[in-house]
This record gives sequence, C-alpha cells and structure tokens, in this order.
Amino acid sequence: MFITFEGIEGAGKSTAIEFLVNYLQAHGYDPVTTREPGGSALGRRLRSLLLDVRTTGLASRAELFLFLADRAQHVAEVIRPALEAGQVVLCDRFTDSTLAYQGYGRGLDTEYLRSLNQAATGGLQPELTLLLDLPVRCGLERAGERNRAAGIAIAEGRFDSESIDFHERVRQGYRALADEEPERFAIIDAAQPPEDVVLQCRSAIEAHLRR
Ligand code: C5P
Repeated sequence: MFITFEGIEGAGKSTAIEFLVNYLQAHGYDPVTTREPGGSALGRRLRSLLLDVRTTGLASRAELFLFLADRAQHVAEVIRPALEAGQVVLCDRFTDSTLAYQGYGRGLDTEYLRSLNQAATGGLQPELTLLLDLPVRCGLERAGERNRAAGIAIAEGRFDSESIDFHERVRQGYRALADEEPERFAIIDAAQPPEDVVLQCRSAIEAHLRR
C-alpha cells in the first residue's frame, strides 16, 4: 500500500507520519517511512543542494529536474522494492508536490509536469494521498518555530524567502488537485491540534482499507 502526504510548509506531515507508524505497526502492518526530496543516498545530496541558500540563480526547470532525479532514484531504490516486499510505504511528498510547487507555485505547465512525473516514476501512483491543509500564515509560523527550535538557519533556507503569494498558490493548487481526484485524496484539517490531525489521518486510512 502506497500512501503519500502532501501540504504546504508547517502542515505537520512528518509529525503525523511518526504517529501513524505506531498505529500501523499495532495493526500488524510493516510500514516504511520516507520522504522527498531526500529518500535515497543520491536524494539526500540533491536535497541539501536544493534547500541550501547558497544555491542561487537556480532556473525553475533546473530545479524541476533535480526534484525529478530525486524521485526517479527514490522510486527505484526505496519505494518499489518496499511495495514489492509487501510493506506499507508512507511517503512525505511525491508527484503532487511537483504539480503544486513547480506547477501552481512557479507557473510551469501542469500537463507537461504530469508527463515528467510519469517518466520519473515509471507510472507509479499513490493509492491514497492525505492532503494536510491549513492557512498559509499558520503553516509558515509553525515552520518558522520548528526551524528556530532545530537551529536551522543556513543549510535549510532556500525556500524561506518565498512570498506568501507563492505559498498561497501552492495551497490552492493542492486543493484543486484534491478536487480533481476525490477518490485518491483525503483533505485533512491540519490547523487542528496534532493529535486530532493524526486521528483524521487514521480515519482516512481506515476508510481506504475498507474499500
Ligand atoms: O517538506 P520539506 O520541508 O521536506 O520540503 C523541502 C522544501 O522543498 C520545502 O521548502 C518545499 O517548499 C520544497 N519543495 C518544492 N518542490 C517540491 C518539493 C518540495 O519546492 N516538488
């Protein structure tokens, strides 16, 4: 079973995933958690390049292909082998991030992006996507607090200077994607306290398993 988690910065995806692992283990599943960018050895190098504030002047298409290279390696090295071994894969960001950020956020053509996603994944698609949705200001405040607590300033900062408008386009993009594919997406109200977010994610997974 392949489940992806999507949302703007500060939506709480990684916290939700952490709790869901325990829940799935308690129900006899063998979950693997992973993320993009950075789910493979190559991906971790690409992630630090992509997030580093010292990476300046990156053209939108160059950025796109770095994310896609990360995804192609991630699918080949981590996701497909885990799915073939019968594990549940919980993945923090996947193809919808490309559509939301590079498409709705940076203005690249979404049909073009869909075909590149298809090429990078070899056609692999998530069965269920949990969209953790919350107002942009709320998400950015949370992400800022998290970064300060972790002492992150320089290494993970290239995206910190994006405008509120950019994040707003990304959020609306995600919502549009969810509207297009209501069967695959569950929209989670991520402005709730973390324990309620986890409960809502659990219900969405249970509903999916009952199908
Ligand atoms: O979710 P996470 O914080 O790991 O994502 C890393 C950064 O990469 C985020 O700031 C996000 O805005 C950015 N990103 C992006 N395009 C993607 C995936 C992530 O701009 N396709």
